[in-house]
Amino acid sequence: MRISSAFKSGKTVFSLEIFPPKKETGDISTIYKTLDGLESIKPDFISVTYGAGGNRADLTTFEICKIIKEKYNLEALAHLTCVNSTREDIDYILQKLNESNIENILALRGDIREGVTPKEDFRHASDLVEYIKNSGYDFSVSGACYPEVHNDAESPVSDILALKKKVECGAEHLVSQLFFDNNAFYSFLEKARIAGIDVPIEAGIMPVVNVHQINRMVSMCGASLPAKFSKTMSRFADNPQALFDAGVAYAIDQIIDLISNGVDGIHLYTMNNPQVAQRIFSAIDSMR
Ligand code: FAD
Repeated sequence: MRISSAFKSGKTVFSLEIFPPKKETGDISTIYKTLDGLESIKPDFISVTYGAGGNRADLTTFEICKIIKEKYNLEALAHLTCVNSTREDIDYILQKLNESNIENILALRGDIREGVTPKEDFRHASDLVEYIKNSGYDFSVSGACYPEVHNDAESPVSDILALKKKVECGAEHLVSQLFFDNNAFYSFLEKARIAGIDVPIEAGIMPVVNVHQINRMVSMCGASLPAKFSKTMSRFADNPQALFDAGVAYAIDQIIDLISNGVDGIHLYTMNNPQVAQRIFSAIDSMR
């Protein structure tokens, strides 16, 4: 199923994101434990992240997508980055995805890492979106968006214009970076719609359930922290169970507000933690 068609029913779409097991810590089979725990949530789709290294030999993301489709009978969205890939690398991967009957790709640039010179074939995610659309395969292509502006953007306006280009190149659906302030998302959504970006936009929600996640996530993605969030996190920083409960409750609160405001979809960054995802989805099940 093409993911863009899931939005046609008018219902809020619910999706989950997982990452492949870390190479040092385990083999691909450990992902079954995560997927076994997520299966009962019955998400509209599960997306699987991909490294930005451009190593065409690493097909783990796509193997997991195949497992999601074939073993769990759920729809899969394969992330694919391009910053360190050549056209030949991408051709190879598109062929593999097509052979595996994976229909949906989240086309990304990937982060530019210090000391690694990007390859020159794809400078922006929109280049990859366009390339996939002209590849001769019939993939449904999604893209990323940033409610609080991408770190590399020259300005908020240039970021929205770049997003518009991504959609004009063929992105049929967008997934947002995580945020903790719903007003930042609503303000971004308004600007995107005014700019003529009319594809479904899913809100990225990350439940923060332990202290390590707080600093790491925020320094990586630049999300602003509303006073309510900061106060809750500092109040329970020394009490792991209370912090867990408060983090789950904060995410549920955000999601209920987003659904009430008619959001197209919720994309939950699960961090491969089925317990958190289950708690959240059982709280909002009647709202789906
Ligand atoms: P782009 O859309 O190319 O944007 C990057 C920057 O370039 C922005 O500042 C934008 O304003 C600017 N820009 C874009 N087009 C133009 C243009 N035509 N002219 C001038 N400026 C332009 N990373 C991974 O490595 N693996 C993953 O699996 C992964 N999954 C992600 C999933 C989601 C939902 C999100 C939000 C991010 C994910 N990332 C992932 C991180 C992502 O790769 C980084 O944020 C990366 O720095 C930007 O990727 P992008 O696709 O948004 O790039």
